Amino acid sequence: MGKILFISERADKIKQYSKIFDKKPFEFLNSCDENSILEIAEINPPDAVIFDSALQSVKHIIKKLKSVTGSTAFILLSQNGIIEPDITKYINAFLTDDMSESLITSTITASLKTKNSLEQLSDTNRNLADSLYRLNVLYSTSSQFAGSLDKEKLVNYMIEGMDKSLSFDLTCTLAFCTEEQPVLILNSLYEISDELLSAIKLRTVLNYKSLFENKKPPFEIDAETLKVIKTVKYPANRFTFTLFRYDNMFAPISLGDNFFGCIEIFKETPFTSDDATCFQTIAQQVSLPLKSATLYQEIKETNLKLEKLERLKSEFISIVSHELRTPLTAIKNSLDILSSKRCGEINDSGVKFLTMAQRNVSRLAGIINDLLDLSKIEAGKMDYHFANMNIHSVIDYVKSSLSVVAKEKGLNLIAEETPDLPEIYADSQRLEQVLTNLVSNAIKFTPEGKTITIRSHIADASQITANDCFKEDLEKLRGKYIVVCVEDQGIGIAEKDLLRAFDKFAQIENSLSRKVGGSGLGLPIAKQLLQAHNGAIWCDSELEKGSRFYFAVPVSEVPSETEKLLTLN
Ligand code: ADP
Repeated sequence: MGKILFISERADKIKQYSKIFDKKPFEFLNSCDENSILEIAEINPPDAVIFDSALQSVKHIIKKLKSVTGSTAFILLSQNGIIEPDITKYINAFLTDDMSESLITSTITASLKTKNSLEQLSDTNRNLADSLYRLNVLYSTSSQFAGSLDKEKLVNYMIEGMDKSLSFDLTCTLAFCTEEQPVLILNSLYEISDELLSAIKLRTVLNYKSLFENKKPPFEIDAETLKVIKTVKYPANRFTFTLFRYDNMFAPISLGDNFFGCIEIFKETPFTSDDATCFQTIAQQVSLPLKSATLYQEIKETNLKLEKLERLKSEFISIVSHELRTPLTAIKNSLDILSSKRCGEINDSGVKFLTMAQRNVSRLAGIINDLLDLSKIEAGKMDYHFANMNIHSVIDYVKSSLSVVAKEKGLNLIAEETPDLPEIYADSQRLEQVLTNLVSNAIKFTPEGKTITIRSHIADASQITANDCFKEDLEKLRGKYIVVCVEDQGIGIAEKDLLRAFDKFAQIENSLSRKVGGSGLGLPIAKQLLQAHNGAIWCDSELEKGSRFYFAVPVSEVPSETEKLLTLN
């Protein structure tokens, strides 16, 4: 039940108490010499100490004992029932000289029980604190895992987490994910000799192979050539082969069919079942981010390859277009000379073929110019000349340059002017290019006898609405814009194809678009040009009814010369 140290000089009391406690379940010791009392307390601390208040130095001895014992119960035997007030704070129970044997026994037994309960409570508290600490480590380790897509870092976080929660002597991590070749990462408390290192390498390879008993391992590894990365905490000390007698745990690091490695850890003192759970949890937790990191790396590599291909394609387009342009200019010039009749008269069918050749040459020149523009925009080499300007000048230019073509097709091309529109800050040539493309498309895709209308108005970004597929482009708009709309009564575009019309080389599947032809580059070029203006382009349409193509350009923030003059006046 308990070891009792009795401190008294009174022979009758020593006799009385030894009679009660010098038998099982108690163990009785008596002393009143300060040195031997402290020696007993240090070597084998008593469960209870009974002090005789008759002793001169009682307070002094209690204080000294308190500093060397843990949860020992301190009981005072009061000679006359009087207790000094400043002693009470050190004492757990009291006895008096006139107490009966049964009362003494029950007081001591109760004190010992209290002491045991306190010890259990402090053990539970300690375990609780340990668990809390582990939970904290697991939490911070998993946060580190979640925040990284770097495989090397992930493996290091795993080892750090294990060190903090399990304080190992050595970890051997065979990692298949950090370099081209598998590596053995050793994190050791002490230095490892070459012989011991060879043994560790061999053991690791055998452990690894044991994971694939009946199957072929993902990699062939050879203990002799296995690359090692070693970190030693205290290089002044060395491990010996007794390391292999230490307690150890082993786990694979894998997720489904994805194998990232395995880990073995050694510790001189035995691991608990909580240690095992923590070890397995960390080894499992790291697998998922390692898988994400692998996928991320694959995506990054594929992206790099795609970027390279895209660059090569752009370079190819740009070179080919340049190469085509020179002979095409020569052909065009020759055809112009022929049709000017400077080289002699041409008969009627000659004129017919010459006109056909000229039309196709200018179509080809248009396609080549589109290709060159696109490759310039994509390479960031397009030149822009921004200035304050009025949108009507662009509309007037496009209307007058295309009205002949529209008329030839029996179409009515009109522009509705909105007075007093503020100026925009734009490159007029690029906007003419955009509007020319929209009006040309409207002419191409509208049957004879119908009308094409160009309108413009001012709108706040919040008032601009469009089909959901253009949401991403329109969300970026802020402030005031001049919106230009080209409305036709043509074949229209199905809702599912609205966004696709702006893709490179896209031609919406219908009989007319195949017949009229085109490069499929006009709208993607227009989209890029408007992005360069911090604007947007979109459309709405209904099959067989017609389309409305819109583009928005921000209103200039710099006042025009006329505005400046008006403010001055
Ligand atoms: P293209 O030079 O082939 O016209 P665009 O990029 O200008 O290239 O247009 C892409 C496709 O969008 C066209 O081939 C056509 O299918 C469709 N499209 C463009 N404008 C209209 C329109 N006004 N009406 C119907 N379809 C159109």
